Amino acid sequence: MDYLDLVNVYEELEKTTKRLEKSDIISRLLKKASVEDLEQIMYLIQGKVFPNWDERKIGMSSKLALRAVTLATGASKEEVEKMLNKLGDLGKVAEELTKEKEQVTLVQHKLTVKKVFDNIRKLSVLEGEGTVNKKIGLVAELLTSAKPIEAKFIIRTVLEVLRVGVAEGILRDAIAKAYDVDFKEVEQAFDLMNDYSEVAKVAKKKSLGKIGLTIMRPINAMLAIRVETIEDAFKALGKPALFEYKLDGFRVQIHKKDNKILLFTRGMENVTNQFKETLNHIEKNIKGDSYVLDSEFVGYDAKTGKYLPFQNISQRIKRKYDIEDIAKRFPVEVNLFDIMYYEGKDLTKETQEQRRKFLEKIVKQVPKKIVLTKKLVTDNEKEAKKFYKESLKAGNEGVMVKNLKTIYQPGRRVGGWLKIKSIMETLDLVISGAEWGEGKRATWLSSFTLSCRKDSEFLDVGKVGTGIKEKDEEGITFKQLTKLLKPNIIKQEGKIVKIKPSLVVEIAYEEIQKSPTYSSGYALRFPRVLRVRYDKGVKDIDTIYKIKEIYSKQIK
Ligand code: AMP
Repeated sequence: MDYLDLVNVYEELEKTTKRLEKSDIISRLLKKASVEDLEQIMYLIQGKVFPNWDERKIGMSSKLALRAVTLATGASKEEVEKMLNKLGDLGKVAEELTKEKEQVTLVQHKLTVKKVFDNIRKLSVLEGEGTVNKKIGLVAELLTSAKPIEAKFIIRTVLEVLRVGVAEGILRDAIAKAYDVDFKEVEQAFDLMNDYSEVAKVAKKKSLGKIGLTIMRPINAMLAIRVETIEDAFKALGKPALFEYKLDGFRVQIHKKDNKILLFTRGMENVTNQFKETLNHIEKNIKGDSYVLDSEFVGYDAKTGKYLPFQNISQRIKRKYDIEDIAKRFPVEVNLFDIMYYEGKDLTKETQEQRRKFLEKIVKQVPKKIVLTKKLVTDNEKEAKKFYKESLKAGNEGVMVKNLKTIYQPGRRVGGWLKIKSIMETLDLVISGAEWGEGKRATWLSSFTLSCRKDSEFLDVGKVGTGIKEKDEEGITFKQLTKLLKPNIIKQEGKIVKIKPSLVVEIAYEEIQKSPTYSSGYALRFPRVLRVRYDKGVKDIDTIYKIKEIYSKQIK
């Protein structure tokens, strides 16, 4: 297929924001495309040349793209930069300059979709010194043969800013329309393949039903629906049900085949390299040559062994350098809870009960390295509540409740899994007091008293010191808070200060308890400052009535 045919479709897509029209436009393109072109078209229409989960990235900086434009059009660097300042889009600059050039040169080759795709794919294998010129050359080669409008989209594609508004749902509908298949089938196939190019090819052959899990390629993670109480969970799932701790880490799908292990996040990112230290634990303690497992990686403090909330380890996910150093500072424990494939067999259609039992057979648990999530199978509400409380006590988010008979349904929130979380809504509260710190913290206010409102009165609901940083990094620091609050100090006794309520903070917490200690009669368990709400005033803060309401809905 000529690249111009695809570019015409890009232009049509740009002209409409309507989903239905967009999927019609794409379905017409798909009908025209041969099987060979289909794969490339599906990637390029999304502005990509690789599936989501692929480690390879195009990796072309705007600086290099600019040099490719100068090389292909003969314009000077200054000229290109000047135009870029004016037009704000290097794609448009390439288009304009190609127009000017077109008037003087006659020779032009026809660009095919394949040529564009191949050259862009080659960019990703070129890394490091000495490859810069090759990269520029690959893009310039395309631009030299391009018509002005083609040049615009080539640049946008290599810079990964295509912007023609093609969301996944639109592709799904386009495939369903083009090949006259049920959109649900297309969606299910996508949940397993995570690649619309592959799905389109299979749909064209009318074999969507035959798609299964492919090892070493992530499937979409099964998801849970939130319910508020254990009673609701039993009502929805029946009795007995499988309860598991809901850990506050991040989801990792583990694939192993031919002595190679790959780790993928829920967003399909390959994080094998970032969590290299876990590969050894996995290899050593799980029986089998090939498998796909579902797990949560949970961080803990290297010194104290205490589990840490997700925020503490989140920086490891995107880390590209000093990986070993950060791995030592923020180690993770692999918590396994499901198995979807084992030694050549797809297990997604087995029941939850069978999968969990099977998983237990192949794992040797080593605390702080690799373990199974804590579980309880029960039909008893009291027992379930006790388990839920234990989970909270251990610092977790709540519990997952799983239907014993459910199959593994990739990407679906269909009710086979439920979640009960303790952290309910956050509260907006005002700071009404604090204490001066000690030692090196003597110039800082700390231990901030939080108040809610009862009509025009303020009532205390607890004290907070967590979520505030010591050093200047992302988030609010003690120093900043002190600066903000100091002018509002109205009384001081020893280290204790009373502050005129004015600064509003958003607070997360795990539970609300009854408490005689505070004037509201309630206390927040494990409160944590999320952010200062500069946009809110004291009249906007939450009331005692709201706190009472949340308390009454909590699991007791
Ligand atoms: P949420 O992100 O609130 O929708 O909750 C779902 C997430 O909880 C999953 O994607 C997992 O990362 C996490 N999770 C923690 N513990 C478990 C567990 N035992 N089973 C399944 N997911 C869990």
